[in-house]
Amino acid sequence: MKVFSVLGYTASGKTTTIEKIITELKKRRYTVGTVKDIHFEQFGIDTEGTNTHRHRAAGADLVTARGLHETDVLYDKRLNVYEIAKFYDTDFLILEGFYDANVPSIITADSFEDLDERLDGTSFAISGKIADTIDEYKGCPAISALQDVSSLVDLIVEKTFRLLPDFDPKCCRACGYTCKEMCSLIVKGEKDREDCVIDKAGIKLKIDGHDIPMVPFVQKLLENAIVGVVSELEGYDSSASISVEFGMTKVLEDSDE
Ligand code: SF4
Repeated sequence: MKVFSVLGYTASGKTTTIEKIITELKKRRYTVGTVKDIHFEQFGIDTEGTNTHRHRAAGADLVTARGLHETDVLYDKRLNVYEIAKFYDTDFLILEGFYDANVPSIITADSFEDLDERLDGTSFAISGKIADTIDEYKGCPAISALQDVSSLVDLIVEKTFRLLPDFDPKCCRACGYTCKEMCSLIVKGEKDREDCVIDKAGIKLKIDGHDIPMVPFVQKLLENAIVGVVSELEGYDSSASISVEFGMTKVLEDSDE
């Protein structure tokens, strides 16, 4: 799944740009997911007094509201990009307004001041209102989604990639860069997504079917712990691959209520 963000101030043409991109990606038969980051302190779909709000207030960990035409799953906390991305299995995931995500970005703007504030190494295109008047700015191509969405989506297909990890530089610089720097280098075409060496580790951890990225130190710790135990067992072969799977089955007692 390729992930990218569209960033820009309100009224810069951000949502219109995303609408046009979605339509064009769907026309090309890609599947598309979107996530909108909302910065209003008061935002919440579930308002006080509703039954679902009462479920949450009573302590339910996860609440779902099933309507006739939509189903809303309500978490009682702000999830990060990685937690949200686990719900998606689409060809593209578009993030609107996520400034904390380590992903390639399209900047929408209606002034050069806005552009100067938002453009960084992860930006691979400029769009929105300002793209009606310029073709590029500081080496970044400007393409209006209203006038030429096809070229904009060509660029999206070329420049975007699978979500990179976002580790603290103190925990991982195994590729020689920070995750953010690696993201910029891939956008510039100087590195490839496969240059993130985390995926090439000899040990992989999945929880509930989802890959859990681990920094090299944790990989080594887990590997040593597992090898330390299984190497004492009959049948151990140091050149063989090892799989360990476990899960817990919770037995719930029947009750009347
Ligand atoms: S190897 Fe991957 S996870 Fe580690 S710093 Fe580089 S990009 Fe980030």
